[in-house]
Amino acid sequence: MSDIVIIGAGECGTRAAFALREAGYSGSVTLVGAEPHLPYERPPLSKPMNGAVQMKVICAEGVLGAAGIDYVKGVSASKLDVGARTVLLSDGRLLAFDKLLLATGARPRRLGCPGAERALDFRTHADAEAIFANAGPGRSVAIIGGGLIGMELAAVLRGKGVAVSVIEAAPKPLGRAVPPRFAAKLHARHVAEGVDFHIGRGVITINEDGVLLTDGGMVQAQLVVSAIGVMAETRLAQEAGLVAGNGILTDIYLRTSAADIFAAGDCAAVSQPGGGHIRFESWRNARAQAETAARNMIGSPEAFASIPWFWSDQYDLGLQVAGLPQPEHQSVVRQYGDGELEFYLDGGRLVAAAALGIGNALAKDIKLAEMLIAAGVRPDPAALADANLNLKMLLKNVRAA
Ligand code: FAD
Ligand code: NAP
Repeated sequence: MSDIVIIGAGECGTRAAFALREAGYSGSVTLVGAEPHLPYERPPLSKPMNGAVQMKVICAEGVLGAAGIDYVKGVSASKLDVGARTVLLSDGRLLAFDKLLLATGARPRRLGCPGAERALDFRTHADAEAIFANAGPGRSVAIIGGGLIGMELAAVLRGKGVAVSVIEAAPKPLGRAVPPRFAAKLHARHVAEGVDFHIGRGVITINEDGVLLTDGGMVQAQLVVSAIGVMAETRLAQEAGLVAGNGILTDIYLRTSAADIFAAGDCAAVSQPGGGHIRFESWRNARAQAETAARNMIGSPEAFASIPWFWSDQYDLGLQVAGLPQPEHQSVVRQYGDGELEFYLDGGRLVAAAALGIGNALAKDIKLAEMLIAAGVRPDPAALADANLNLKMLLKNVRAA
């Protein structure tokens, strides 16, 4: 019987622990997590219900115990010895392993300007509590970074009657992961909601009055939040000599450069069939890679292949993106009464889709679009654009053919 150790008790590490059991593994499973809580989900942190920060646990303590998962809480793995197959923990314990999964996630990128220490990060439950405890009605908050966290936080804070400024270095907000059509619509909605944008500006310094910008402007704020992206947490792996770049490098089976050591989730940069490595930073990816890594640790290797997907909630709008839309793709737009679906074709083949609508209204369409992408269809663009043509029918026809 072998011993499996998982480092990192976020979405990925926790899901992997359960996936091992679901796949029939009966050896020992130890899950080590640096945070002092039961494993919890991060997405609800920037989507508080009734103004209160949510702690949505992934599972109760009893469920971990019942599954025979030994959860070591509030303890960090500080040294990995690849040759000896051991991990040293911050409490002095030494864990031996036969197989190891690194699911160490990511940590917020830090600003380098004077006064950077005044800005709060937004990654953990403790970060969310610190932000929301200091951001009540009538207060002013400057958010540095107009990415997914910055924009979700701006929406929540406007709903609480907080004066919000967003400072974004790039020429437009949400430029990284959100297709331009929907980034522009979300930006416009934030402007209509009264968010004060400072686009294409860097930060010179942060002081007790707020944020001094590169154009000489001053953004007055009682609280400053930094949301300028994340860096893969690779320290443990790199110090042990594992190959890393923008993440811990793995092959398509999620195996690192060291035998019997796997990596998955936000920390892993996974080899791509066309060359290079990609690191995804989304909830579903963390779960999907966890499941593949778990199966690969105990069985014959299965290549990781899953269509990327993420969602974002801002005000009453729900965004979902499946696949990786690229500027060179042919865009086909399908209009609904109060939402839009955009399809992306590469040489006639459907490779990605995105939707923006009220709440979850377009979730079913995106799910169908995902199935069409997986089926490798080459649809007639006119049919895709026609909101009267049922995507379910299209899928049915493809399957019948
Ligand atoms: P993490 O969640 O970062 O977990 C890694 C864990 O490992 C951490 O708890 C860390 O403390 C621990 N760890 C690291 N090093 C060690 C060590 N040496 N020893 C022990 N433990 C260690 N994605 C979406 O798709 N949709 C959303 O709406 C969405 N909203 C989000 C909102 C917020 C506020 C944030 C922060 C993220 C959001 N995400 C969202 C992203 C999503 O939550 C992440 O992609 C996902 O959590 C990644 O899971 P992970 O387990 O790989 O990494
Ligand atoms: P992000 O989406 O990478 O956005 C960071 C933004 O900050 C980018 O637009 C970036 O511009 C900008 N920026 C970088 N340096 C800056 C500076 N010095 N001054 C001003 N702007 C600067 O990252 P995030 O919003 O911080 O989110 C962190 C993580 O949480 C990510 O992994 C994200 O995917 C995840 N998350 C996901 C969701 C979701 O899927 N719904 C929601 C919340 C969080 P450049 O791109 O030009 O660098």
